[in-house]
Amino acid sequence: MKTITILGSTGSIGQTTLNLVKQHQDKFQVLGLCGGNNLKQMIADALFFKPKFISMSNEKLQKDLESALAGHLPHSKIICGEQASHHIAQEKADIFISAIVGSAGLIPTMEAIKHGTQVALANKESLVCAGNLMLEQVRKSQTTLLPIDSEHNAIFQVLQQNHHAHIEKILLTCSGGPFRTKDLEFIRKATPAQAVAHPKWSMGNKISVDSASLMNKGLEWIEASHLFNVDCDKIQVVIHPQSIIHSMVAYDDGSVLAQLGSPDMAVPISYALDYPKRLANNSKRIDFWQCEDLTFQQPDETKFKALKLSRSAFKANDNSTIILNASNEEAVASFLDNHKIGFLNILDVIEEMLNLNISTKIHSLEDVLAEDQKARIQTQEIIKKFLR
Ligand code: NAD
Ligand code: MG
Repeated sequence: MKTITILGSTGSIGQTTLNLVKQHQDKFQVLGLCGGNNLKQMIADALFFKPKFISMSNEKLQKDLESALAGHLPHSKIICGEQASHHIAQEKADIFISAIVGSAGLIPTMEAIKHGTQVALANKESLVCAGNLMLEQVRKSQTTLLPIDSEHNAIFQVLQQNHHAHIEKILLTCSGGPFRTKDLEFIRKATPAQAVAHPKWSMGNKISVDSASLMNKGLEWIEASHLFNVDCDKIQVVIHPQSIIHSMVAYDDGSVLAQLGSPDMAVPISYALDYPKRLANNSKRIDFWQCEDLTFQQPDETKFKALKLSRSAFKANDNSTIILNASNEEAVASFLDNHKIGFLNILDVIEEMLNLNISTKIHSLEDVLAEDQKARIQTQEIIKKFLR
């Protein structure tokens, strides 16, 4: 039996993971569930999986959670509050699924790594903010970081033969999002409902907006460079609207290896859950007789400037990717909050923040958190200029 803790258990990745655990109850036992605000889902999952540790980041939910679970889970510990997930991450599990949104995932994920737990990472924002520190800790703890993000999971799978020195290029595929074929005027006026309606993937709201602006691919480009220790200039974004190929690695002998599958996060999560074994699941299989044509295009960077912004942030100062991520999180939240800023203003806000060219040396996790907080406050000032 593998014990498993899920950070963000009530969200999209969390629920897909729990579904797989439900199908394989002979293999996995839930040790901890950590959520944010979704009390109803947490109660249902806690009653079903009976974890030893249950947490929610909203401390006001402690009493409600305790009274709903009273008498049912006498051996479980319930903790609510901002720091709750940090404590649960310190409880050694065989696998820790890091699946909350944003840099809020950084401390608990680092805690799990420090305690030698194998981490399956969906929370790309923590790598974007603190990739070097995180990978250094992975080496110190002699553990493995398993990517859940579908592209990185695909690359991880095709890199298994340890031919790192022969990598010529990583081809990071991208669906193009809901606005791929729309003109700039349409995109400028796009509403939150239009931005979260992804044509291929069903995901949480923040990553859906990032997919529409292509910032998701910018973050993933940085994520891939850290995870696979590959120079960022060797990573090329390829628009592949069908989302069947989840990324490719081109080697110096002319071979290109790809991983294919239907667009369902159950596939990469299964791979991470039972690594290095394979875990059967009931995801939709590709029917090659019914398959759409597989097409590939260059990203249109005049319409989508997120890739350019991510590239310049990654190549600028120590702290620039922290600023990129924090300003994106704040701007996306303002867009999603009743369309307070326009869709393209998300990228304008990030660009203004990066143009301030603030340079700080980053040596520790504390430095990352301080920079993240500072960038959020500054971003809020810039957002005021764009309010509709
Ligand atoms: P989501 O919004 O559906 O779920 C987020 C979960 O985190 C919820 O359970 C929420 O209650 C919880 N949460 C939020 N703040 C918290 C906090 N401070 N402490 C504890 N829990 C908190 O998001 P999602 O789509 O599942 O995405 C999660 C992460 O996975 C993101 O980093 C995203 O980029 C990444 N990811 C998601 C997908 C996908 O298909 N959804 C694919 C690749 C990567
Ligand atoms: Mg992805």
